[in-house]
Amino acid sequence: MTDLLTVRGLRKSFGDLQVLRDISFDVPAGTVTAVIGSSGSGKTTMLRTLNALDRADAGVIDIGSVSVDFAQPVDRATLARFRAQSGMVFQSHNLFPHRTVLQNVIEGPVIVQKRPKAEAIEDAKVLLEQVGLGEKADQYPYQLSGGQQQRVGIARALALRPTLMLFDEPTSALDPELVGDVLRVIKDLAADGWTMVIVTHEIRFAQQVADQVLFIDGGVVLESGPPAQVLGEPSHARTRQFLQRIL
Ligand code: ADP
Repeated sequence: MTDLLTVRGLRKSFGDLQVLRDISFDVPAGTVTAVIGSSGSGKTTMLRTLNALDRADAGVIDIGSVSVDFAQPVDRATLARFRAQSGMVFQSHNLFPHRTVLQNVIEGPVIVQKRPKAEAIEDAKVLLEQVGLGEKADQYPYQLSGGQQQRVGIARALALRPTLMLFDEPTSALDPELVGDVLRVIKDLAADGWTMVIVTHEIRFAQQVADQVLFIDGGVVLESGPPAQVLGEPSHARTRQFLQRIL
């Protein structure tokens, strides 16, 4: 299978704090990668470097046809192309409160990507159906539940037509009864063949959806492999300890 994402030697420090020491992994096209690890281990930072929201200090990231060596200066056009490869879903939705659901979804395509508005609206309607919110297009964020808002966030990321979807603990800010709907949407995307990297504490979800699991510890990928291996028969004591703590 062709890799859609390859990461080699990724490093990132904040001042004296070295968060990512040497992260390397591959994500084949059409597969789901779940990223697990203790709080503060650098999962969010790693995800943010994949979208250049945080700029890596070093490391080479290839996404699709775009390759960036972060140890070298990166020109703006390359960085823009790099960023456009991936769509990011955050812990909480960050929707524009004074815009309708539909307006929130078309904002990026129309303003950033300069796509024709009519086309963006057609796209947005399809995406809202896909996340189960076709009926909510004209409502405002405050009229939606947290889970529905999060699903708008997913539609908004998809609207930019990325090749890779990144999720940063997409359900961690939700009430327990709202988690299932969001996870179902992510499962549907997996079934549709989306390539995704998902930072999650939902181990059962990772077990069901992920093709590979990365356990991040001490700034490196300490262990990776299919969920049955990493979650079921971890080879490192640190992985076992982590799983015992959260299960
Ligand atoms: P995780 O997602 O695994 O909980 P994070 O990537 O959020 O971990 O954080 C890893 C470490 O980096 C933490 O110690 C955190 O405080 C630190 N950190 C994250 N972002 C910043 C930042 N912008 N400035 C300084 N320190 C940061």
